[in-house]
Amino acid sequence: MALPSTPLASTALRLTREDLLRWARECGFDLAGIAPAQPLPEFKFYEQWVQRGRAAGMGYLTDHRMEARRDPRHLLNSAQSILMAGVLYKSPQPSIGTLDDPTRAWISRYAWGADYHDVLRARFELLAKRLPAGVEYRICVDTAPLLERDYARAAGLGWIGKNTCLINQGQGSWFFLGAMLLSVELPADVPPPDRCGSCTRCIDACPTQAIVPTGQAVPAWELDAGLCISYHTIESREATPEPLRAAFGSHVFGCDICQDVCPWNRRAPQTEVAEFQPRAFAPPLEQMAALTEEQFRALFRETPVWRAKYRGFLRNVCTAMGNAPRREYQPLLEQLAQHAYPAVKQHAQWALDQIAKALRE
Ligand code: SF4
Ligand code: SF4
Repeated sequence: MALPSTPLASTALRLTREDLLRWARECGFDLAGIAPAQPLPEFKFYEQWVQRGRAAGMGYLTDHRMEARRDPRHLLNSAQSILMAGVLYKSPQPSIGTLDDPTRAWISRYAWGADYHDVLRARFELLAKRLPAGVEYRICVDTAPLLERDYARAAGLGWIGKNTCLINQGQGSWFFLGAMLLSVELPADVPPPDRCGSCTRCIDACPTQAIVPTGQAVPAWELDAGLCISYHTIESREATPEPLRAAFGSHVFGCDICQDVCPWNRRAPQTEVAEFQPRAFAPPLEQMAALTEEQFRALFRETPVWRAKYRGFLRNVCTAMGNAPRREYQPLLEQLAQHAYPAVKQHAQWALDQIAKALRE
């Protein structure tokens, strides 16, 4: 949303970097910094990544919105600075992987609580109320075409790790990012150095080898979305390629492995934000497979899991059941093998085949 324009010479004097960063903290952001609202050299890498086909089926990253990402001024003509801000979401529950229980549905940590878009936007709106009259602004929380991670790096919030997450030296990588474009020129922060060093834990731990070499010096690694569990369980509407399914384990929405193993997350602080506390922590697969569309809506409508849609979620639950093959799953899977949605049908049949194979052995 943009407020009516007024000459900026006077307002620029009344909005200081110090005030803005202090207000960001007071409005509930754990991290905040300022980047210039200009094109970044990282755009070139993003273009190459798309050209290499690494975005898989994510049309919103490859269609006309790709060009819009070149310059943040496409989002707000008058933008001169970007306030990049983050809110931590790590709740006290352990990483799901440590439960070592394949009969539980593993949902990525970021999706355990309420939808972060609403939580972050509400905080930015509080902050906007403090801006001097005449300052134009636009709030972007993960839905506008903006290279958020790269601007967050430019704003000094962290470096981009080999796992492609933004990592903050003191706070790790469990945070949500948002941006506020501002029509005022403010002194920018300095990006921190890359502190991954010779570590390759995320690359080694990825079950599908989705972190692949770029063939160039910087960045040396990139994500092949077509191999990533997060892409297939959240974004893709298709059946998952069969050779990948066994590596998905019990993941039914997203995957945290490359963040769980990162040493910079060992001492990552926990959030106190009530909205990010888990609503359904690792529920039993059987319960998830038996959900009606109505029950799915009641449980996940206001959480990020909603993005997978009921059909995508059921497809993922079938994969997880096939990876934890148990005779007692057969009746539920036989019902799902009659589902109207082809991907659910296919995955249910695949899971039944895995169970039949396990029972023969
Ligand atoms: S989210 Fe999972 S599958 Fe994707 S790169 Fe990270 S470890 Fe690999
Ligand atoms: S696990 Fe190691 S290489 Fe991967 S992002 Fe973390 S520090 Fe970097």
